[in-house]
Amino acid sequence: MNNFFLKNAVNISHHMVKNVIAEGDIFIDATCGKGNDTLFLANLVGESGQVYAFDIQDEAIRITKEKLEQNNLSKRVILINDNHSNIDAHVNLPIDGAMFNLGFLPGSTVKLITMADTTLIAVQKVLHLLKAGGLITLVFYPGHEGGQEELDVVRSYLANLAQNEYEVSQVNFINQINHPPQLINIQKLYGGTVI
Ligand code: SAH
Repeated sequence: MNNFFLKNAVNISHHMVKNVIAEGDIFIDATCGKGNDTLFLANLVGESGQVYAFDIQDEAIRITKEKLEQNNLSKRVILINDNHSNIDAHVNLPIDGAMFNLGFLPGSTVKLITMADTTLIAVQKVLHLLKAGGLITLVFYPGHEGGQEELDVVRSYLANLAQNEYEVSQVNFINQINHPPQLINIQKLYGGTVI
């Protein structure tokens, strides 16, 4: 047996991305927060790749910037202090994937949470940029205030995407108490199936 654990929604999102991402890829981190996903992506896209990392909170951008500098990965990342609903104002080229780790910045005094309406706009814009074969992962926090509504709104939109264009799946730890985080994966197909 390999030492492999599903653990939680964020961890599974990393397993998913690792299987798709290649050197030279262009990825978006729609919510950089403490920079963990940004760092993860920056390592995997390599020197020829590019990560666009968004956050509306200065604190998150600062923490992520420091983390990248410590790891000598700043060159691979463009940090954008803006709402991810404005993604198209900053990125207008085809992308290989995007990660959304929703909710609020852990440990911050400001509880600035992602909201259903702006998350939905960001997801729609990212879908427009996504290349065939590309992957979007979304981690939702239904246990936080507004988190269930956000999941419901985005999930109903995604549930209506054409199945010959996208594969949309949901991972939910059904035996865990207190509304654990949930993961939704979207993969864009090559006019039928991923080849
Ligand atoms: N919930 C995760 C961390 C999420 S961090 C965990 O527990 O680990 C989510 C980040 O999204 C925060 O840093 C917050 O500032 C940012 N954010 C909230 N709304 C946003 C928006 N509309 N656009 C971009 N970033 C946003």
